[in-house]
Parts: sequence; structure tokens; C-alpha cells
Amino acid sequence: MSKQVLIIGAGVIGLSTAYYAARKGHRVTVLDRGTIENQNCSYGNAGLVVPSHFVPLAAPGMVALGLKWMLKSDSPFYVKPRFDRDLVDWGFKFWRAANAGHVSRSAPLLRDLNMASRACFEELAELTGNAFGLEKKGVLCLCRTEHRLEEEARTAGQARQLGLSVEVLSARQATELNPDLRLDIVGAVYFRDDCHLNPALFMAVLKQQLVKLGVKFLWETELTGWRPNGNSIAAVRTAKGDFTAQEYVLCGGSWSPVAARELRLILPMQAGKGYNLTLPKPRKLPAIPAILTEARVAVTPMGSSLRFGGTMEIAGLNEQINPARVQGIIKSVPTYYPDFTARDFDGIKPWCGLRPCSPDGLPYVGRTARFPNLSIATGHAMMGLSLGPITGKLMSEILSGERPSIDIQLLDPDRYAGLSATSRNAGGLT
Ligand SMILES: Cc1cc2nc3c(=O)[nH]c(=O)nc-3n(C[C@H](O)[C@H](O)[C@H](O)COP(=O)(O)OP(=O)(O)OC[C@H]3O[C@@H](n4cnc5c(N)ncnc54)[C@H](O)[C@@H]3O)c2cc1C
Repeated sequence: MSKQVLIIGAGVIGLSTAYYAARKGHRVTVLDRGTIENQNCSYGNAGLVVPSHFVPLAAPGMVALGLKWMLKSDSPFYVKPRFDRDLVDWGFKFWRAANAGHVSRSAPLLRDLNMASRACFEELAELTGNAFGLEKKGVLCLCRTEHRLEEEARTAGQARQLGLSVEVLSARQATELNPDLRLDIVGAVYFRDDCHLNPALFMAVLKQQLVKLGVKFLWETELTGWRPNGNSIAAVRTAKGDFTAQEYVLCGGSWSPVAARELRLILPMQAGKGYNLTLPKPRKLPAIPAILTEARVAVTPMGSSLRFGGTMEIAGLNEQINPARVQGIIKSVPTYYPDFTARDFDGIKPWCGLRPCSPDGLPYVGRTARFPNLSIATGHAMMGLSLGPITGKLMSEILSGERPSIDIQLLDPDRYAGLSATSRNAGGLT
């Protein structure tokens, strides 16, 4: 049955949901407070599709590492000290989730979601003549210290058990894969299933496809509230008036909890600010994307340009550039790639985006218990691009009253409210 679906948020999650919902025959409208050129987090990310990221952010050792890094202003992770009840609550939930049991429960799901999304990207590339530059070259995790290489090798072992294609390389083997570039490393782990693409082109392709499918856009339209009617949503409120639909999907990225607050939905989330610097004419271009593991910086060739992206700064919903964080990225680059110097970044304007981070490192996807015609799709943190298409596909199944093709009970948007979603997402509502 074709339904009227209103999607709030035109990031990669909102547009992917619109795409798969429209393909199933639903009449879809996407609403965003930004303009059509919207530069939300989904445009400037590192463009990596990452089956290698099967360990959620909330993992053993992360709390200790985070506390150590917090003391250094240019470290890869930073929490701006402030008294904020939501931040304290999020930190407590993160600490509770950062255990081995949570990782072993989440890893097969994250692998399945990323691999299924990779297949969606392949399908979209085929459909559009690969207009967004999908390249299936894998990702090299470069290590400068033996300690880090041992840790990465352990992750490689887990990856192999999960059926992923992965190899531990010596420094010489890694250099052979990047013959034009010197590497100052002790070794690397090569995740062959990872891919990369140009995220801004991917967003442009999605918008073109949506226009073809008849999806309507409401740009510069901010959701300011909701009109609940009993246990369903009757309309959303905006400065341009109310908009009604049969189904609503909140894909508001880091701002989703603000948008949902009036409905008293419990959606713990912190914005994890990250930065990128893109060299339009780099002196050298790595053949394969990389993650500089100690520095937590992603390096992605995009056509003839080269993007360096990284840092996680928990500093609230603010999009101001913090120069110390940007310097942290710049300083790290020559330590792995001696062919580059800090001068290469002179005059390069940094970009920043807010990753929507749930405390357990898993997204929120599915119907809400309190308002069954309101679904949530957000909280993808460092994997929003990678998981965009599969999230859209799963949401389209849920909206169509089908059982989701992947078991996503762990992604229940009500998991912090103590309500179960099993029957809600399993075809209960049509
Ligand atoms: C430096 C960096 C590198 C990254 N690298 C990668 C990577 O390599 N691979 C990967 O998979 N992910 C990566 N990510 C993460 C990825 O970019 C995000 O997870 C993803 O973009 C989140 O998408 P989203 O659609 O949920 O949110 P967003 O892109 O933030 O979109 C949310 C939209 O909702 C709209 N909105 C919010 N509230 C309202 C409202 N009240 N009314 C109307 N509109 C509203 C906003 O205007 C916005 O357009 C990276 C992120 C950063 C910062």
C-alpha cells in the first residue's frame, strides 16, 4: 500500500530512506531547514564504506583512552569540559556499553549492515554510471608503533573470523601497494572489503534519483514541533505551516534529540565534531585510502584531490572550527607520509561536521513505541555514509509493513526507554 511519508532531514540517512521508500511506491517528501546545497555532515566526510568498522565506538579500553586523550588539546578525541546533564548521562551509558559482550553482540550486525550497504552502493554505481566515484580498493590501517600494529592485527583476526578479507602487511608490503609514496610505518592491516567514494557526489546523485522518483523537497523549512493526536503524529509544525503525512521518519542527525524532545522520546546522543582538510592538488596521491591509526585520521583520494579527515570533539551542537584540533590532523600527516609537510595545508580551509553519536555506538533505526507512525533513523556516528543505503532500505521495509531483511533489534530506538520494538518493526503496522 502506497503511503504518504514525510522525512525530516536531508542528510545521507534521510535521502537514502527517501530513495528506497520511493522505490517501493510510497509518496515521499523530504523536509530540511538547509538549502538545496545543504553542507551537512553527509557532504564533507571521508567517504569510506567500512565493513572493517565492526567494533562499535563503545568498546573495552575506549573510556581509558578517551580520558588520556582528553588532557591533550590536539589529540584525536576531546570532550569539552562543561556541566551538562545530557553529557554526564551519555558518558555513563557509554561506560556501561564499553564491554566485550556488547562488542561481540554488535560485531556480526555491523558487518552485515556494512556489507549489505556496500552491495547497495555497487547497485547504485551500476545504475548511475558510477557518478559518485565508487572505488573498491580497500583501506590500509597504517601503524607507526609495534603496539598499535599488534592491536590492529588482533582486530584483523576477529575480522577474519567474521569472514572479512583482511591481511597484516609489513611496512615494505604496504609501500609496494603505494609505490609513489614514502611511508614511515612499522606495518599495516589491509581491509580489502572497504571502499571509498566522493560523498558530495553521492549526495548529488541521490538528489537526482529522488527527483526522478517524484520525491518532493521542502528546503529552508525547519521542524519546530509536532502535532500528536493520541498515540500517533498528526502533523509536524514548521515556520511555513503544518505538514501532514501517514508516516514520519526523523533523520535529523545530531539535532534529532532536540527535534524529538517535545515528544519526550529518550534518544541519548552527543554530537562528535570532526574536521577535514582537502588538498586540491596534493604533491602525491596514495593509491589506496588509509587510516593513520594512532592519529585516527582518514586519508581518502577523491579524484585528483586528497582528503584528510579526523578528530572527535564532544563539544555540544556547535559548528565552530577549533584550530587546535585542525593542527592535530595537520601535524600527524608528515609523521606517516614524510613526502608531505605542514606547509602543504597552508591556505586550506577546514570543514567540520557533527557526527550523531549514540552512547553504545549503534544507530537508532525503527518505529517508536509511543507513536507508531513515527520512526527514527539516526545515530550512525562514524559510519553514517557507509550505513546510509542499508538504513534507507531497512526503513523502507519497515514503512511498507515488511519484516526488516536484517534483524535490527539491537538498533531499537527505544532501547534506552526500556520498551521493546520487536513487533513494531515486524510488519505490525501497514
Ligand atoms: C570528519 C568526518 C569524517 C567522516 N567520515 C566518514 C566516513 O568515511 N564514512 C562514514 O560512513 N561516515 C563518516 N562520517 C560520519 C558521517 O558523515 C555521518 O554519520 C553522517 O553524515 C550522518 O548523516 P545524517 O543524515 O544522520 O546527518 P546529517 O548529515 O547531519 O543530516 C541531518 C540533517 O537534518 C537536518 N535537520 C536537523 N534538525 C532539523 C529540523 N529541526 N528541521 C529541519 N531539518 C533538520 C539538518 O539540517 C541536516 O541536513 C564522518 C564524519 C565526519 C565529521
